[in-house]
Amino acid sequence: MWRIRLHGRGGQGIKTASQILGSAGFYSGFQAQDFPLYGAERRGAPVIAFTRISKDAILERGPISSPDVILVGDETLLNDPQSAPLCGAEPSTVIFINSNRVPEQLSQEFSVTTANLTDLCFQHINSRTIYSSALSAVGARLLGTIELQDLLQAVEDELTQQGVSPQMLEGNLSLAREIFATIQPAVISARTEKPLTAKPLVFPQHLPVMDGAPIILQPGNMALRKTGNWRVQRPEIDYEHCNHCLICYARCPDGAIAVAPDGKPEIDYDHCKGCMICAQECPGHFINTVREMGTFP
Ligand code: SF4
Ligand code: SF4
Repeated sequence: MWRIRLHGRGGQGIKTASQILGSAGFYSGFQAQDFPLYGAERRGAPVIAFTRISKDAILERGPISSPDVILVGDETLLNDPQSAPLCGAEPSTVIFINSNRVPEQLSQEFSVTTANLTDLCFQHINSRTIYSSALSAVGARLLGTIELQDLLQAVEDELTQQGVSPQMLEGNLSLAREIFATIQPAVISARTEKPLTAKPLVFPQHLPVMDGAPIILQPGNMALRKTGNWRVQRPEIDYEHCNHCLICYARCPDGAIAVAPDGKPEIDYDHCKGCMICAQECPGHFINTVREMGTFP
């Protein structure tokens, strides 16, 4: 069995990527299982999805704690202790990171592949933040056992169900084709499958709510939740041209722009989630969009 764990952020198509990968595996003659895991969070919050692909019946259930393949759609998650995409990785784990750099330190410990999916997605589907087809194509190719036509069929089926336009579908198919041709299959070590030892019925234990969510229940706690690490894109104000009209301050849905004593808008990067509404609303387009990077040396 191959256990694949996908990491990304809400809105990047991570759940759809796991579905496409599962369907592609199924069309190639395997058993497949896929499901996401995320809380009641908004666009930008860390999301995890899982796919199991096997020649035999899949009896295992639940999140994958020890994956054979980890697909990271957003490199900024490597710095996010809540997401911890490398958790459970072993030296044999194959890791893919959407990045235009090769992380030297990680490469010494793991088998790491990188590709700049962000730019490829922009070229094919005119979006820098939707990775469903791209990430599933990477996963399918790394496994080396899924045929291209099965991947394309899975992309078409999943995206058609979502109602994408024919033009967008064609872009996703050409994106999947290019990635399939670019990425090389990885060497994934076969594991000795251990017999399942879990009891047939598991009764989940729940903490009393006062123990389980003490911070949430505390009043006035919003500032404690630093959501700035959800950001994929960073707004940077061009102060040379900004005329202090403060429309950005009024439009930021998260109150992440303050007004300094001299009247200048100031972005609170601890809480700015990178929705880029401020950049769209600035009348003179004086807020630049910069991709967040810099998670590994
Ligand atoms: S990108 Fe702009 S509008 Fe969005 S949260 Fe950050 S400061 Fe506010
Ligand atoms: S909307 Fe633009 S011009 Fe107005 S304060 Fe914000 S950055 Fe400056």
